[in-house]
Amino acid sequence: MRPIQMVDTKTQDLNIKEEVDAAIQEVLDSAAYINGKPVQDFASGLSAYLGIKHTIPCANGTDALQIAMMALGLQPGDEVITPSFTYIATTEVVALLKLKPVFVEVDARTFCMDPASLRKAITPKTRAIVPVHLYGHAAPMEEIMQIAKEFGLYVIEDNAQAIGCDYTFSDGSKKKTGTIGTVGATSFYPSKNLGAFGDGGAVFTNDDVLAQKMKMIANHGQQKRYYHEMVGCNSRLDSIQAAILNIKLQKLDDYNRARREVAAYYDEAFVGNAKITTPFVAGYSDHVYHQYTLVLNDVDRDGLNVFLAENKIPSMIYYPVPGHRQKMFDSFDLPKYELATTDWLTERVISLPVHTEMDKEQLAYIAAHVIKFINQ
Ligand SMILES: *Cc1c(COP(=O)(O)O)cnc(C)c1O
Repeated sequence: MRPIQMVDTKTQDLNIKEEVDAAIQEVLDSAAYINGKPVQDFASGLSAYLGIKHTIPCANGTDALQIAMMALGLQPGDEVITPSFTYIATTEVVALLKLKPVFVEVDARTFCMDPASLRKAITPKTRAIVPVHLYGHAAPMEEIMQIAKEFGLYVIEDNAQAIGCDYTFSDGSKKKTGTIGTVGATSFYPSKNLGAFGDGGAVFTNDDVLAQKMKMIANHGQQKRYYHEMVGCNSRLDSIQAAILNIKLQKLDDYNRARREVAAYYDEAFVGNAKITTPFVAGYSDHVYHQYTLVLNDVDRDGLNVFLAENKIPSMIYYPVPGHRQKMFDSFDLPKYELATTDWLTERVISLPVHTEMDKEQLAYIAAHVIKFINQ
């Protein structure tokens, strides 16, 4: 059996090696390392794929969130509502910009923002909502957008884990996650569903004015060189990464399909096991399985993690500490949060390997070991 990895970018990349090598060589030959043609091609290619007007590439997903928040003109003290059950980048940029993070609950089944908890957290100081499409499942955007409209709030979608995921509205129409709110932000970190050979990110929006502003902010606040109209930052996707992403974007739907096949295998293997809750897929969401995450019921999770490791099967806890319990917020004078679902999930989730290069032999081996430990 081939060794099992949490993510296998190497095998994925070997399958496109010739195309990628040629594309990289082309950038080297052009010497346009920054803002070369591949960057513009990627921006328009991603816009077309997502069905959105503007895509602005940047250096990473964390910057993407920051650029979006800066462009929306959020001011120190403004409240930004995010789930606590997410990767830290979502809330880190809120803190970095001296905005006030307000943590809300997730739905125990979808791991995404709970609209009822969101509604309760809104105050006169609330300016923005940051739903996260966690693990590749969409947050309930229709309800979130309704609440945002009711209270006049911006919605910044953290789409770092769900690129390519479709959202279905109650009228049957569909949109890609990240294109529903005011602005979407994503990451091309190598292990993401659309991953570069290094760091990368992007913001996207249908709003012309906001797009222009985000473009300027990512480029030192300038439109005309050396004339800086606002405080910005330096956040670029380089030409080599863009050239690679242009190739991988063509394969994104295939990659996501391969992830869904892995998930279907696991779902089938664990069906009916009372100690395992497999990922739920809500009617409005597609799932692109950035992670395949189980909720364990009455199982020694750390024991399972060790047992799997002993059998050369990696597994991960995403994430061991929720946002509202991170030490970094100690000095923030945050209220004492009671986020029971978040704490409950934090103690029970475990993610199994899911990527585009898994074979049946590996999957059977993983599933058999999970079941062996749980049923012992
Ligand atoms: C990866 C990720 C980010 C940050 O992306 P980087 O490119 O690593 O900066 C933000 N939010 C979520 C939910 C992520 O998974």
